[in-house]
Amino acid sequence: MENQQIQITHSQSRKAKPASDQLEFGRIFTDHMFMMDYSEEKGWYEPRIVPYQPITLDPAAMIFHYGQTVFEGLKAYRTKEDKVLLFRPEKNMERLNLSNERLCIPQIDEDFVLNALKQLVNLDKDWVPSAEGTSLYIRPFIISTEPYLGVAASKSYKLMIILSPVGSYYKEGIHPVKIFVEREFVRAVEGGTGKAKTAGNYAASLKAQEVSEKQGYSQVLWLDGIEKRYIEEVGSMNIFFKINGKVVTPELNGSILAGVTRDSVINLLKYWGVPVQERRISIDEIYDSFKNGELEEVFGTGTAAVISPVGELNWEGEKMVINNGKTGSLSQKIYDTLTSIQNGLEPDLFDWTVEVK
Ligand SMILES: *Cc1c(COP(=O)(O)O)cnc(C)c1O
Repeated sequence: MENQQIQITHSQSRKAKPASDQLEFGRIFTDHMFMMDYSEEKGWYEPRIVPYQPITLDPAAMIFHYGQTVFEGLKAYRTKEDKVLLFRPEKNMERLNLSNERLCIPQIDEDFVLNALKQLVNLDKDWVPSAEGTSLYIRPFIISTEPYLGVAASKSYKLMIILSPVGSYYKEGIHPVKIFVEREFVRAVEGGTGKAKTAGNYAASLKAQEVSEKQGYSQVLWLDGIEKRYIEEVGSMNIFFKINGKVVTPELNGSILAGVTRDSVINLLKYWGVPVQERRISIDEIYDSFKNGELEEVFGTGTAAVISPVGELNWEGEKMVINNGKTGSLSQKIYDTLTSIQNGLEPDLFDWTVEVK
C-alpha cells in the first residue's frame, strides 16, 4: 500500500463557494473526493482523487441490506496565517481501523489513508473557510459493495473521503441545551457496536431523538442498555460532569464511542491540574449531586460542537437546571482553549495539530 501512487483527475469545472455566513452542516461538498477499492485478491487498490460525483452500485450491494459500513469525522481549520491545520487526524485513522475490526471490514493502512486525506484537502484547500468558527468537515467512510444477499462479511469494499465546508456550530456564541434523559430507547449495549462509528448506531438513535425534540429537548442522554441506570453518552457526543470541583466522565466500557475530543478534554484537565476521573456514573448519583447543590457543570464533547454545555436535564419529569442554565466557566475555558489550538491561535502544547501543505 505505502508505495501505491494516488491517481489524480482534476475537476474540469469549479463549483461556486458559499458565503461563510450561509454555511450549514454537511449540505454542500467540494470539487474533489478520494476513493479506493478493496477485493480479496488485490487488497486495497486504485487509490484515486476524482471530481466529486455520484457512484454506481449494484442494488444487491451488501451495504444496502445489512449495513456493513464505518465512518469518521474530523475537521480542517484555516489559521490567521492562512495555514490549514488538522486536529489529531491520526486518532481518526486509528479509530477507523477499530471500527473496521468490529464490523469485519479489512484494515486500512492508516498512514497511507491519512496521506491521501491530506492530499485531498490540499487540492481543495480553497474550500477551507476562514470566518470564525467555520471549518472544512472531512468524512472518510467505507461501504461494503459485494452484490450478495447472504448474511456474511462482504468480499469487496469502497473507501471514500468527501469534504464539506461547515459553518459555526454556535452562531451566537456557545450556549447550553436542554437534554432529555432517555428511559425507553437505548443506543448501544456492551458487546454490541456502540464503540464503533457505524451507521446502524445512528439509525437506532433517531427515534429517541425525534420523541425528545417533540417535547422541546435538543438531544437525549443515553443510559446503559441493561440497567438503564449508568450514563453513557449525550446525543452523539461524550459527556462530562463537574461535581464539587471534580470532573467525571463515563469510562470506556465497550458501548461508548471513544471520542477524540473526549480524550483531548481529559488531557487538558490533567494538564491544568483539575481532578478528572473516568468511571461508571449513575443517573441517581447525578440527581443526588444536583439535590445537594454540587452539580456545577455538564457538557458534551465532539468534533462538531467541540463543547456543548447542558443547561437542563429532564429525568422522569425532574428538571435539573445546571448553573442557572448558563455556560459554566470550565466549559467555556475548555471550549476556548481547544478551538484556539485548532485554529492555531494558541501554542500547540500537546503537538495535536498537523499542517496540510
Ligand atoms: C463521533 C462520536 C463522538 C465524538 O467523537 P469525536 O472524535 O470527539 O468527534 C461521540 N459519540 C459518538 C456516538 C460519536 O459517533
